[in-house]
Amino acid sequence: MLTDTHCHLFYDDLKDNLPDILDRAKQLGVDRFICVATNLEDALECLKLAETHATIWASAGVHPHDAKDAPGNLNNRIRELMDHEKMVAVGEMGLDYFRNISDQETQQKIFRKQMSIAQDLDMPVIFHNRNADEDVLTILSEFPNLRGVAHCFSSTLETAEKFIDLGYYISFSGNLTFKNSHLPDVAKELPLDRLLVETDCPYLSPVPHRGKPNEPGRTRFVAEKLADVHGVPLETIAAATSENATALFGL
Ligand SMILES: [Zn+2]
Ligand SMILES: [Zn+2]
Repeated sequence: MLTDTHCHLFYDDLKDNLPDILDRAKQLGVDRFICVATNLEDALECLKLAETHATIWASAGVHPHDAKDAPGNLNNRIRELMDHEKMVAVGEMGLDYFRNISDQETQQKIFRKQMSIAQDLDMPVIFHNRNADEDVLTILSEFPNLRGVAHCFSSTLETAEKFIDLGYYISFSGNLTFKNSHLPDVAKELPLDRLLVETDCPYLSPVPHRGKPNEPGRTRFVAEKLADVHGVPLETIAAATSENATALFGL
């Protein structure tokens, strides 16, 4: 039993083939899915999928790329969306200083806004961080009572440890399996009770499917890599990461 804690199932190629995709996932031992929104339109799509599939849950939030287009009534709209039993987190939110599709000041403003909503609602957050360790840590520290996950973790061990100290989980995706990645050395040092796995599909397909469109079943390959670096059976990783997902998101 594995949980893909971060997939974007609302993209057409995934949504239009969902029965087959979920079948293939099941064969690989992946049986729970969190469909993560990148803006409020996606969030409605995620919710639709969650309403029609017992094993899919949803989140609502604004990705840093979309921060520049965040609506003025963001607060009310996220609160409205969160008022549903299959909604399990606010996000994805965060900072992406690699692509800077929204300017950094706007990214920070919309990130803070969502952190504040999550705090008011006592909901976990899913955050994205690319080349923005320092500013992400600053903003997380401003909301000390929140819990959540550093999704698609790709930073240093030092940053991972700081996130864990602040009460966050670390989620690994396909880039853990890439040749020459520094991430296995990071993952090896982290305690199993703080780890999650994800695909971030359709992006970041893991080895041996690197470069192809990704799908949720491939969480399996991320978990296998984690088992390998920790020197434990796959079942140990599956049990730990699924328990962590249950605890964090209340699945
Ligand atoms: Zn992301
Ligand atoms: Zn994502």
